[in-house]
Order: sequence, then structure tokens, then C-alpha cells
Amino acid sequence: MTNIRNIAIVAHVDHGKTTLIDELLKQSQTVSGHRELAERAMDSNDLEKERGITIVAKCTAIDWEGYRINIIDTPGHADFGGEVERVLKLVDSVLLLVDSFEGPMPQTKFVLRKSLELGLRPVVVINKIDRPNGRPDKVLDMVFDLFGDLEADDEQLDFPVVYASGLGGFAKKELEDESSDMRPLLEAIIEHVPPPKDDPEGPLQMQVATLKYDEYVGRVAIGRVFRGTMRIGDRVVRSQRDGEQISARITKLFGFKGLDRVDREEVSAGDIVAVAGLEGILPGETICAPDHVDPLPMIAIDEPTVSMVL
Ligand code: GDP
Repeated sequence: MTNIRNIAIVAHVDHGKTTLIDELLKQSQTVSGHRELAERAMDSNDLEKERGITIVAKCTAIDWEGYRINIIDTPGHADFGGEVERVLKLVDSVLLLVDSFEGPMPQTKFVLRKSLELGLRPVVVINKIDRPNGRPDKVLDMVFDLFGDLEADDEQLDFPVVYASGLGGFAKKELEDESSDMRPLLEAIIEHVPPPKDDPEGPLQMQVATLKYDEYVGRVAIGRVFRGTMRIGDRVVRSQRDGEQISARITKLFGFKGLDRVDREEVSAGDIVAVAGLEGILPGETICAPDHVDPLPMIAIDEPTVSMVL
């Protein structure tokens, strides 16, 4: 199996999430050419542009030195609590991005609380360290206090820290280090985000966390394969939100590469993937092996995402 890392990236609006991800894609050469960067990495949703905030989770993946890093961009807004919770269930850690001048803000506190409650151990990124008025030491103290206020456990309190400037295109593990690239951040992700332990041999179990609409293939269900393997042509059983089971055949499978979805013949436990061609599919559904229908517990559905993307 590929060496996978699954992380969500969490930041208050304007703390530099989009710039940082663009830079990671560029430096890892997952994205080359101009098309993708013209259309900024994580900023393509019209509704989002209108409101100026990131509201729908998005996936991208970086290929770097034999690893696949799936990055889920997480909405920081409390109105999307259900979506945030579902996204956090897809990943094994979060990158908590904090502006080196502003420090933690209320919107990210919400997501941090959820992450800690789910037992995730965040990696803290103090960002925009090029800012002349930046105060990274102070901001690190503020982040530590916030973890304490949110009742982080000892392991969570002992969080790894990376200092970064998405704009400057560099990251470092200690403030006094010299660095001219993002390598230290990628290394920290590989080192501190636990690799998925999901079993690829057992019966298939994939839970849908979020949806996208694609003009060519229609509704696309995005989620994590928690167990087993799924191939094009496989018969599956969809366990729907109301408990109803329907039989289906897998016709279109995707992984992520940079900003694009890429066709896959087969996807396997531990990966974040997309499935198209399943009519009416909704977040919360579990796609199961026909002889082993074993739905995962339903996850929150109390937010407007579903109606928004359909
Ligand atoms: P997002 O809302 O978190 O996605 O933030 P953006 O990436 O869109 O950045 C918000 C603003 O901060 C933009 O004006 C960026 O140019 C600026 N910015 C982003 N990263 C950095 C950084 O590392 N240093 C400085 N000084 N500014 C940055």
C-alpha cells in the first residue's frame, strides 16, 4: 500500500491556508503549469468567493518522496459544524494554522475543540512568520493556552510546531533555523501524522463524508475507505441514512492528485477517495461489501452543505 497521510487543514479566514497549500503543491511539483495556479488551489467555490470564507471541505493530495498526503481543507465556520465533524472523522491529524501576529481566533477555536474531542493530535503551524510585526513566541504561548482551555490531554498538549511563511515559500522547525523551502513542514507531516491503520483485507466499508458536483460525472461522494478494497465493476451494498440497503455497481472511482481528481481502478483502506455514479448518494452512507453489510455510525447531518451542492 502507498504510504498515506490524511490531514485536515484548519485556519481562521485570512491566516494563509490557501497560499500555504498553493506553495506546497508547487514545491512538491504535484501541480505544474499555470492552469491550476491561476485558479487558486482551494478557492474555486463560487458561494465561497461570494462570502469570502471557506465553507465546503475540499480535497487535494500531494505526492512527495513516496508518500501521498491527502489534505482536506476544513471550513472554519461554526455554521458548518456537521461538515467539520464529518471531515475530521476522515483524517488522522490536523494542521492548525495560526497567523504569527493575530494568534488563535474564535472560528478556529471551534474546530480545534472538535479535533481534540475526537482524540486527534494536531500539528501547529505558526504561519506568516515573515510579518515584520509577527510575534511567533507569544502566539505559540496563546496556542498552548488555548489547548489547555480546551482540556487537551498530555499528548495533545505536547503538539509539534512548525514555523512557516506560505508567501515566502519556506517552513522551519525552530525559529532560528535557516530554510528556503517547505520541506520541514512536509517532513513534520510525515513524522507526526499517524499512518492509517485501516485493514485493506477485510470486507469493504467506505463512509461518505461530503459531496461535490461535477459537470461531467454528476454527484461525487467523497469519503474514506475504512476497511477493504473497492474496484471498478464491484457489486456493493449502500447502507443509506434511513437504514435502507440498496445494491449498486461501482463504475467510477477517483483519487486525488494536486487539485485534480484522477481515475483509479482500485482504492484501498486508509485512503480518501471519490465515487461517482451512485444515484442520490448522501453524506453518512456506508458503502459495504454485499456479504458483509456493516454500516458505520451515522455522522451529523445538521448543516446546509447537502442542499447547497446538489
Ligand atoms: P486563507 O483565507 O486562510 O485561505 O488566506 P489566504 O491564503 O487567502 O491569505 C490571506 C492574505 O494573507 C492574503 O493577502 C495573502 O497574500 C496573505 N498571506 C498569506 N500567507 C502569507 C504569509 O506567509 N505572509 C504574509 N505576510 N502574508 C501572507
